Amino acid sequence: MNTPHTLFEKIWRRHVIVQRGDSDALLHVDRNFVHEGSMFAFGALAKEGRNVRKPRQTFAVADHYVPTLNRERGMAGIADPEVRNMLELLENNARANDVVHFGIDDPRQGIVHVVGPELGITQPGLIVTCGDSHTSTHGALGALAVGIGASHLKQILATQCLWQKKPKTLRITVDGALGPGVSAKDVILAIIAKIGTAGGTGHAIEYAGAAMRALSIEGRMTVCNMSIEAGARAGMVAPDDTTFEYLHGREYAPRGAHWDQALALWRTLPTDEGATFDREVTLDARALEPMVTWGTSPEDALPVSAAVPDPASVSDADRRARMEQALRYTGLTPGTPLQQVKIDRAFIGTCTNGRIEDLRAAAAVLKGRKVTVPSWVSPGSTTIKRQAEAEGLDRIFREAGFDWRASGCSSCASMNGDIVPAGERCASTSNRNFEGRQGKGSRTHLMSPAMVAAAAVTGRITDVRKL
Ligand code: SF4
Repeated sequence: MNTPHTLFEKIWRRHVIVQRGDSDALLHVDRNFVHEGSMFAFGALAKEGRNVRKPRQTFAVADHYVPTLNRERGMAGIADPEVRNMLELLENNARANDVVHFGIDDPRQGIVHVVGPELGITQPGLIVTCGDSHTSTHGALGALAVGIGASHLKQILATQCLWQKKPKTLRITVDGALGPGVSAKDVILAIIAKIGTAGGTGHAIEYAGAAMRALSIEGRMTVCNMSIEAGARAGMVAPDDTTFEYLHGREYAPRGAHWDQALALWRTLPTDEGATFDREVTLDARALEPMVTWGTSPEDALPVSAAVPDPASVSDADRRARMEQALRYTGLTPGTPLQQVKIDRAFIGTCTNGRIEDLRAAAAVLKGRKVTVPSWVSPGSTTIKRQAEAEGLDRIFREAGFDWRASGCSSCASMNGDIVPAGERCASTSNRNFEGRQGKGSRTHLMSPAMVAAAAVTGRITDVRKL
């Protein structure tokens, strides 16, 4: 009988070119994404007089620096020379190397981790890389997707290969069904709250269980996206009919006989019965509530019905000191019910929660209501923006008082100037609530799109199930 293997193991074994010692392997990279931050890798490559080895396997996407206003004017609408320079560098590097470029004017532009799956570039069984932490998002389609640094990116551009230390495996099984108002974002925040930001360190996570199987690909992407916030090298979900239906007919997905061949292979990828993982964690979906963060780390997450925790009740000195610093930064008092915390603005978007399903969930809350704080939405891609407009979601957002912006990373990292002012508290669908993440002195509370919409309406953190 054949040895049973995990999804991760199957993909890893198919991609090893050279093995060095027990754990280091040279892997073939199937798809590589670059954004504006790739300039150092391209620069180093050019300095050595080299070009991209396999240009058809690299895809350039403008996202971090693209403005979300005045987009109809293209590059001419960018006032900040630094921002324009970053976008031009990406365009020039892509052109010089014959790499496909989804730039500011391209109707397929969007956030790199939204565009890859949306165009069918990301597929099950592939190794996908990008010089970006949240590359783990692509694992939702059953790919092994890893974020890399500039030197690794240069290596991939030059050789289409990557040296990697083999991670351990961790299976997180989420059993049961999610209750009303509880979404993929709440699942991943609950997981990180349970295992901590170092809980997945050195591991590739496979998410399994009835609740994960019931999620759409959009929801699975939200979960896989934040694997990195638990310290994991990758997050993945075994491909199934939901995956195949999502991919079928997309621009870069295989067609005709190639589709049939690919499908036959993809069906062999799920973890075999009896395969073992280095670690296992389980969660009961039925026990989950909408989650919200109170501190400056994604692990500082609690059910919305809870109160701001008291560091004095924590015995671990390091943890207590970190909590005290987080509360100083967020300006919250221990014991305050989270639902009494007022917010100053709301933001919906990002590679975590900027997909059509996220916009629909937020619009369902906003319909017939008005926001009470400045609020904006930046769809995860220009394609999603068009789709939302075709469905009339933009009208609902606008009538509620939301600013309907163009697609980009926007206020997730605020590199394009979409900054949350110092001292302001933002209800956000993004993935990081670190100090200064949305702008110097900004305070971020992570939550789901429906929860952000609810907070925008009431002006405070709100249990969306009550609206
Ligand atoms: S949306 Fe945020 S997390 Fe995602 S790629 Fe952009 S900056 Fe990174």
